[in-house]
Amino acid sequence: MNITDPRPGVAASPQAPGLALVPYGQGRTRGLDADALGTHGVAMDRLVALGLTVVPGLTVPAGTAASLGEPGTARAAVELVEQLSGRRVGDSARPLLLRLSASAPTDIAGLPPDLACLGVTPDSAGDLCTVIGRADALDEVWAATVRMIAEYGLDVPAALLDDALLDSPAPRARVEALLSVVARHAGRPFPDDPAEQLALAARAVLARWDSPRARRARKAQKLPADLDIALHVQALRIGPADRSGYGTAVSRHPETGRFSPQGSFFRGVRRSAPPPHTGEPLEKLSGGTVLLEHALLTLERHLHAPVSVDFEVRDGEVSLLAASAQSRPPLRASVCLAVDLVRDGALDKDAAVRRIGPAQVQELLHPQLKLTGDEELLARGLPASPGAATGTVALSSERALELAAEGAHAVLVMHETTPADVPGMLAATAVLTGSGGIASHAAVVARGAGKPAVCGIEGLRLDKAAGTVRIGERVLSEGDAVSLDGRTGTVYAGTLSVSVAGPPPELSTLLEWADDSRRLGVRVNADTAAEVTTAVALGAEGVGLCRTEHQFLGDRLPLIRSVILAADPAARDEALLALEHAQHEDFTALLTAVADRPVTVRLLDAPLHEFLPAPGEAGDAAAEQRAASLREANPMLGLRGVRLALLHERLYPAQAEALFSAWVEVAATGVRPRLEVMIPLVSLPEELQAAAAFVRDAAETVAARTGVRVPYRLGTMIETPRAALLAAELAEHAEFFSFGTNDLTQLTYGFSRDDVERQVLASYQERGFLTASPFARLDPHGVGALIALAVERARSVRPDIKLGVCGEHGGDPESIAFCDDVGLDYVSCSAHRVPVARMAAAHSALRESRSESGNGSNENGTPA
Ligand code: PEP
Ligand code: MG
Repeated sequence: MNITDPRPGVAASPQAPGLALVPYGQGRTRGLDADALGTHGVAMDRLVALGLTVVPGLTVPAGTAASLGEPGTARAAVELVEQLSGRRVGDSARPLLLRLSASAPTDIAGLPPDLACLGVTPDSAGDLCTVIGRADALDEVWAATVRMIAEYGLDVPAALLDDALLDSPAPRARVEALLSVVARHAGRPFPDDPAEQLALAARAVLARWDSPRARRARKAQKLPADLDIALHVQALRIGPADRSGYGTAVSRHPETGRFSPQGSFFRGVRRSAPPPHTGEPLEKLSGGTVLLEHALLTLERHLHAPVSVDFEVRDGEVSLLAASAQSRPPLRASVCLAVDLVRDGALDKDAAVRRIGPAQVQELLHPQLKLTGDEELLARGLPASPGAATGTVALSSERALELAAEGAHAVLVMHETTPADVPGMLAATAVLTGSGGIASHAAVVARGAGKPAVCGIEGLRLDKAAGTVRIGERVLSEGDAVSLDGRTGTVYAGTLSVSVAGPPPELSTLLEWADDSRRLGVRVNADTAAEVTTAVALGAEGVGLCRTEHQFLGDRLPLIRSVILAADPAARDEALLALEHAQHEDFTALLTAVADRPVTVRLLDAPLHEFLPAPGEAGDAAAEQRAASLREANPMLGLRGVRLALLHERLYPAQAEALFSAWVEVAATGVRPRLEVMIPLVSLPEELQAAAAFVRDAAETVAARTGVRVPYRLGTMIETPRAALLAAELAEHAEFFSFGTNDLTQLTYGFSRDDVERQVLASYQERGFLTASPFARLDPHGVGALIALAVERARSVRPDIKLGVCGEHGGDPESIAFCDDVGLDYVSCSAHRVPVARMAAAHSALRESRSESGNGSNENGTPA
């Protein structure tokens, strides 16, 4: 056969067989690429170029591969491999066998199996096994090699070979049976000569590649039917099993992510099929994992990825057979590697930050369920608060508190939650609700507390009397176990195992680098000193929203109820005084935790239905009547926010005085929180003006009493479309705006934030009207357009107005990118989303398409 190839370096003919043989490492210098060398040849070239030790071997390039079936070329190949490995086939002192494998220009399925035992003969097998130290060391691989050569290289009918194998259960007897079938039916005995074996093996591999089965596999992968493959001949150096063998390794520990070779090791000769047992841990390798460290480190630095290798070991010397970037590396490994690469100078910090997405940060921060696939999925709801938990069903806050007191993990399951349930929610490990959406009470409180929650579970039916709850198809009783993942919104029956390992310290490093790259500030929505402390540790730069009504949850509820339900002015004044005292304590603790950072304190925004007693629980008949008269058909559109303050005119002054006097007290300790007082749910400039006057008067009162003028900024939330449209007029009275995108979304769409996700949005998403809940991902076209317009109008009046967002969108990466694009100064989100927001803000700033000019200035007023 006359084989020529127009590609440089590939020229072969029977007269010059050696020219078709490309030693590993020389493909590139001969101008060959993956089309000629196959993926394996290219990989080996790369390893050699990196100075790593590879298994000695050569490639017969695609297009010329059939030449290896010619005796001359096969003999030249054997000689070349002998020369490369410094050993000779048949030398019993330092024995050598050959392996033949194939690869295509890209990674594909359906390649012929490797022939891993060429050069062995019935006479030499015993000696080889003695060197290895195991009498049966070669039998299986040898039988597989002979079987395939017999069928595809010598045309012995497969049925005869199968019969021979079935009749001979003992491994060595199987090889002998195959050899005698060959002698009888191939018209010639199976050759002993290694070159002849190699030539037959090459024909067998190519015939197998040409078989109908292989063609079908190519068709299924949409590969050309005539796709050429390259052949590779490798040295298989035989050595004693206690110091020789083969294995696979990855560069990093899956749990810690640290550089630490992990893998398994097998003694004996590498098989084509996966080994039948799991092998021994790498540490059992003579010489230890240290043998692989250099290669794995070098590869990581080159590929910038956690890597995996196939290796051979002979007498304590490692050589590589394959290496690649790990296809799905553990997240921890990717984080630690990114930091290691920067420390080694192999990557710059921005590039390292770009490698880890905000969603991955979230994944690292929260526990995960360890799923096996055998779990019983009860239901899917809205992923309301990330994290995973497992625990016992509690159908009331009281039961959750009891269980927690007994040291049990309770999962609080309710139709919906109200402020009265907060103590139970905080005692529980997780929360499930049948109603409510991403911005519902249960979701907001759970996120703030860092508890996993799934809300809006369709079909969740509570039967309090029976002490049962139907979730999906199952009826669970109080005390039954459930597990949930608040990141995916899934609920499972029973106790599942939960991974609790915290993020690697390298994540903090990466987040610090992210901080250097981002323009947007990141603050926290926090109501208590404890939440502030948690959030500051997670990197929050200040508080973007303290919802003061959240300071009246649980046992504090009567304080605010008394104000709302006071029978007469004297009772109201008394109730206000109690509220002011309680607030003073809260604010002192909060401001102390805030220290010198900015803090936005929002004056009371109490949707009445959350704070009114249930019918029959007001106390006396008169209070019952007053409560009844305050109940609203549409409480989220009723007596809320600034409206309540205008009806109860002492409410905001009482709060503001408590806040300012707390500031004076805290400032005396040496810290100066940068106070921002915020008015909620404003639609009319007049509302803001009136509320601002209350605050100003309170500041004057405190100044008169203490002699200290408290520095503060006054601002408003932009939560109604009217407020957004009147941003210029509002900016006349406000030094900052915070976009309350929960209410702004509710009011822009007219979607009830508590109901619509459960009822409407699923159908809208199925229909393709929406790709995500607008309560989770900011709607850029409607709500976002209002924000953009408000930003422009506000800055036209007050160019230095400070602008932020504090709705739930402040923790969503896509929404954060939007906020960056419209030039807001900061986002504010729940404590446990702060690291996600830091990373999202950095990714937004590092987007390649981003305009160089940037938008506005950052929180400190320095240019972006
Ligand atoms: C908002 O409406 O976006 C907001 C932050 O306020 P709340 O969720 O307390 O109504
Ligand atoms: Mg709001």
